Amino acid sequence: MYLPMDSQTIRSFVQEHETDDEPPDPRQDDEPPSPSLTCLSTHSSFHVSALSAEASCQAVLPSLCNSKTQDFRHRFYPGLPDARWNSWHWQLQNRICTPTALSRFLDLSLEEMGVFAELKTKLPLGVTPYYMSLLHGSAPGHPLRRTVVPTVHEFFKLPGEENDPLGEEGHTQMPGLVHRYPDRVLLLVSGFCSTYCRYCTRSRLVGRGKIYPSRSRLEKAIDYIRNTPTIRDVLLSGGDPLTLSDAKLDWILGRIREIPHVEIIRIGTKVPAVLPQRVTPELVRVLRKYHPLWMSLHFTHPEECTPEAYDACAMLADAGIPLGSQTVLLKGINDDVATMKALMHQMMRMRVKPYYLYQCDPVAGSGHFRTSVARGLEIIRGLRGHTSGYAVPTYVIDAPGGGGKIPLLPNYVVSSSDAGVVLENYENRLFTYPNPVGCPDGGCGSDNGVEGYI
Ligand code: SF4
Repeated sequence: MYLPMDSQTIRSFVQEHETDDEPPDPRQDDEPPSPSLTCLSTHSSFHVSALSAEASCQAVLPSLCNSKTQDFRHRFYPGLPDARWNSWHWQLQNRICTPTALSRFLDLSLEEMGVFAELKTKLPLGVTPYYMSLLHGSAPGHPLRRTVVPTVHEFFKLPGEENDPLGEEGHTQMPGLVHRYPDRVLLLVSGFCSTYCRYCTRSRLVGRGKIYPSRSRLEKAIDYIRNTPTIRDVLLSGGDPLTLSDAKLDWILGRIREIPHVEIIRIGTKVPAVLPQRVTPELVRVLRKYHPLWMSLHFTHPEECTPEAYDACAMLADAGIPLGSQTVLLKGINDDVATMKALMHQMMRMRVKPYYLYQCDPVAGSGHFRTSVARGLEIIRGLRGHTSGYAVPTYVIDAPGGGGKIPLLPNYVVSSSDAGVVLENYENRLFTYPNPVGCPDGGCGSDNGVEGYI
């Protein structure tokens, strides 16, 4: 491990070099940011004083808090009213974005401090106070902590790793619009996330102010969709679309829904895991207007499945939005059968269908997160037959260079012949499935081989 400075030097350096490459907060998109709170229980563009915002928010949001989060709040935010903690605007305004802020909550390891001392991180640091409350303060190896706290390992680019591993740039028709398949399109509505995952496939774009949710850019992208009749499926992603205001989402979804050939709209988001406060009755009222609307929720570890996350998913599911999970397979975080099974069971309880388990994309600096493909196959083998079929996600590799998702399955076929196939089940027992040899109606022209009549 290359560490450029001793720990004391690093500490001093960190104090002087706060990361400052966080883009301007794009939530206000075309409008100037407002210093006042915006109440969750009113229209999002209605700015009110902090006091009345708290009173109103309290009326709609119960004081739902897991015990880890409660202890964290007592320690770091004593006296903070529930209404403020439960306000997604407060959560965004108080994100932890600098090494000094981070060191208030966590005992930073050398590997964590080193990342700030060596270079600017390629991806900004950003963690909501809520998600910070779920991290272990003194264990750098804690799974959730590893997903959001940068380390010096991010600086190492291994063979085969790329800044744009999925080759999205080659299919980008205009800024933020990726059109790879004839019938569906990826619209990056914003480059902003409330919490940045250190393994993000789009680390070349997110948190860098490159994808701004301006009306003029989005108008052009929506025009492209309107003028391309083969597009029946629009996926909104980013960045995290749910960090946009209700009014902006309403506008985007409304404009897309007006296009007759768009059959379904999908939203990819990590909000229920990192900022569940964002899922408000007002947001849900907006979303449910645009059915069929589907959502892919990014969950990584069972510890993300708090009562707050449950509540957020329940509100979305109650609005009739089909929910699917997307999980990235991450070394030392969720790459064992027990953890993955626990996560998938939590998903089922949250009414989220386990959808994709992704092999981690070979984005530059992801080597410390990536497992072998054999590990992923082992996990699928440990799930299939050992739990409900609904709880088994499809394990895929998003083919580097833009080949699309390729499903991977353990090999259950032991041998194959004209007579049939020998299969191994989840208990390693062998079974034979007979091919329809001699089928009288199968085009063979005779009943040769028929064993009898029933
Ligand atoms: S939420 Fe998604 S887009 Fe945002 S940093 Fe994480 S993986 Fe990247």
